[in-house]
Amino acid sequence: MIPIYFKNGAVNRLYHLLLNVKPRQRSKVEYLKNIRAINKWCLKNISVRGKKYSFPDVIKADYDEIVEIANVYNSRRTKIPKKYKKFIIETLYKQRFPRQEFVEELQITVCPYCNRNFVNSTYKRTMCDLDHFYDKETYPILAVSFHNLVPVCHACNHAKASKSISYSPHNMKFNTDDLLSFDFFIDGMDFLSDNQQIGIEIDCGREFATNVRELKLREVYQIHSDIVQECIKKAIMFNPKYMTDLFNTYNGLFESEEELYRIVFGNYMEESFYGKRPLSKLTKDVLSKLLIEIYGFNME
Ligand SMILES: [Zn+2]
Repeated sequence: MIPIYFKNGAVNRLYHLLLNVKPRQRSKVEYLKNIRAINKWCLKNISVRGKKYSFPDVIKADYDEIVEIANVYNSRRTKIPKKYKKFIIETLYKQRFPRQEFVEELQITVCPYCNRNFVNSTYKRTMCDLDHFYDKETYPILAVSFHNLVPVCHACNHAKASKSISYSPHNMKFNTDDLLSFDFFIDGMDFLSDNQQIGIEIDCGREFATNVRELKLREVYQIHSDIVQECIKKAIMFNPKYMTDLFNTYNGLFESEEELYRIVFGNYMEESFYGKRPLSKLTKDVLSKLLIEIYGFNME
């Protein structure tokens, strides 16, 4: 639900890390032979609107090209020979893929599939899973393509497995707010003391519907009804007038009113920062609705 972006020049840097590492002398000949053979296979079999794709082109392809390559591969009867499939998955992906640098180049801190769990990389170790948006068993030629890989939390990776979902965070066409919005409903009189009486709903269009279903987002978000309960209480305490008073009283303490909202409500309110902290989209949507319903105050 949160778009992800590579830093400038990242794709080329990652490509060199992946392919230009010198293999041990003994396996070098075999290694180069495999790369050449896969390259030849790609040039012969992968063509999108007149452009022939080499193996490096497939690895560096952007998201739109990945979709087209996947369609071409899927429609072809001839699949890549098993020994090359094994080489791409077992050698290139499992042994050589620069996981840590990949996560760092994307500057990700929270799982872009669910916006619930932190994902990050530490020295020599990535604290997340890498999901193949197009799964590597069915689409082995995309197994090391950077725009086909998404750093995700273990829960999302486990839920998705090899299933296909419609929205990839590499897809630049959609912003988070276009894809979905959270809402809540009250299911009992004692919701202020019992958060089990608050339910969370996800409204989304066709583009995000399979993500919600396959990643079980409706189900997993229910445990966050305590966050909604806190938002309700805080929205009552910190009404818009009080917030303006706080901003003026502590003149110069807050960079902006947005920062004051972040500190009071514990999360980022701006769409471009949703990826920085877990549950930011939930907090923002719930709070926006509460402020409109209680005070007629529009945060936008
Ligand atoms: Zn996740």
